[in-house]
Amino acid sequence: MRIYNSTSHKVEKFIPKTEGKVQMYTCGPTVYHFAHIGNLRSYIMEDVLEKYLDYAGYDVNRVMNITDVGHLTSDGDTGDDKMLKGAKREHKTVMEIAKFYTDAFFQDCKKLNIKKPDTVVPATTYIGEFIKVIRSLMEKGYAYEAGGNIYFDTSKLKKYYVFGDFGEEDLAVGVREGVEADDNKRNKADFVLWFTKSKFDDQELKWNSPWGIGYPGWHIECSCISMKNNGEYLDIHCGGIDNQFPHHTNEIAQSESFLGHPWCSYWFHVHHLNTSGGKMSKSKGEFLTVSLLEEKGYDPLVYRFFCLQSHYRKSLVFSYENLDNAKAAYDKLTARIAQLMGENDKGEIAAADFERLKSGFSAAMDDDLNTSNAITALYDVLKADISTATKLALTEDFDRVLSLGLSDRAKKLIEKSAEENIPQDIRDLAAQRAEARKAKNFSLADELRDKISAMGYVIEETRQGTKISKKA
Ligand code: AMP
Ligand code: ZN
Repeated sequence: MRIYNSTSHKVEKFIPKTEGKVQMYTCGPTVYHFAHIGNLRSYIMEDVLEKYLDYAGYDVNRVMNITDVGHLTSDGDTGDDKMLKGAKREHKTVMEIAKFYTDAFFQDCKKLNIKKPDTVVPATTYIGEFIKVIRSLMEKGYAYEAGGNIYFDTSKLKKYYVFGDFGEEDLAVGVREGVEADDNKRNKADFVLWFTKSKFDDQELKWNSPWGIGYPGWHIECSCISMKNNGEYLDIHCGGIDNQFPHHTNEIAQSESFLGHPWCSYWFHVHHLNTSGGKMSKSKGEFLTVSLLEEKGYDPLVYRFFCLQSHYRKSLVFSYENLDNAKAAYDKLTARIAQLMGENDKGEIAAADFERLKSGFSAAMDDDLNTSNAITALYDVLKADISTATKLALTEDFDRVLSLGLSDRAKKLIEKSAEENIPQDIRDLAAQRAEARKAKNFSLADELRDKISAMGYVIEETRQGTKISKKA
């Protein structure tokens, strides 16, 4: 597999440190609000990456944090505490907010067929680990105390801006928001590892540390959670493109200074989902969530399909018109699969055809996770002059990675169309039977069922309700 590496700015051959095994880390959500569908674009593409690595035969260990402390409204050390802001907004405690939005995040993931990573660590459960690493960074001379906070000293590094040239403009994000510059810093790029001099008097979550009562910075969370659960060498680290700087830049600074050797081999960044008005935001414009799409009648998997139609390294513009186009294509695709499933003579699976068409799919995914070409490979299968059984087997196979719920949705279409084909007189009898059952007139209900049966239909009670089908 070849994959773009944000540190080298090149598409490189993917070679994990240990043959056959991949250590993968993903920056998790800051759980102060619902995830917007932009955040979820990143998680969808990371899910596809994990599933493709697994499909390609690697044993993947995927770790993710939950940011429930330390993330300020700027990605640096300035602005308000996001969790505290969320708690105030909803008149709840920070931990209540964290639990509620962590659950909401995984519910959204489930709807989008995003697999839960093997290990998920809320930052508040790892305080001892953060303290251990910060203490070691101080001992090694990479960190200093100033004004009550512990800072990482970026002047100690040979190279700090690993992803490219970021200027003072980027570092001044918080300052632009009207927040005072931090005079404690020896260098502009230095960042906080541990706050003891809380800027927020009402900060709810604080812990004892060798430097006084306080709380960790955001960046140290990911470094520690990864090093503890992925080991000293990380193969691939993922996140949205906005995480490159300062978050990932700082993660690298801390981890490599602590370990004394290179840390992560590949950096995978998903570009943004934007609206026509620009960057997607939780506070401006319509707050686009999975639930909102559902309320508007969209299947969440249509949104997944919409994301997969584009390359993860291109920014993607969301509009309902674009989503409607994806919906039309998704509906057509599932209808075609339903049609194939309904065929009586599907033939046998032909191994040679299977392998030939599978290699088209793998070639697309091997090419820096080209999901849109992988979808084209799926269309190629459906058009190919091969047996229906082979087509269906390949669809199932590709969908292990794409996770578009293709067979499941096709089966639902078949059930729906079978129901719609039930004649009106049978449906009327079934309705009369339901009434009789409700009135506890079971002898009449049985009589009606026998009548329906004599007319060639079977009626059964399922968890989803009454089901009528034509006798085989
Ligand atoms: P957060 O919950 O703010 O920590 O962000 C969760 C993830 O979503 C991070 O990996 C971000 O880089 C990513 N992200 C934020 N905004 C967008 C967007 N508009 N499109 C894609 N990914 C995003
Ligand atoms: Zn992170």
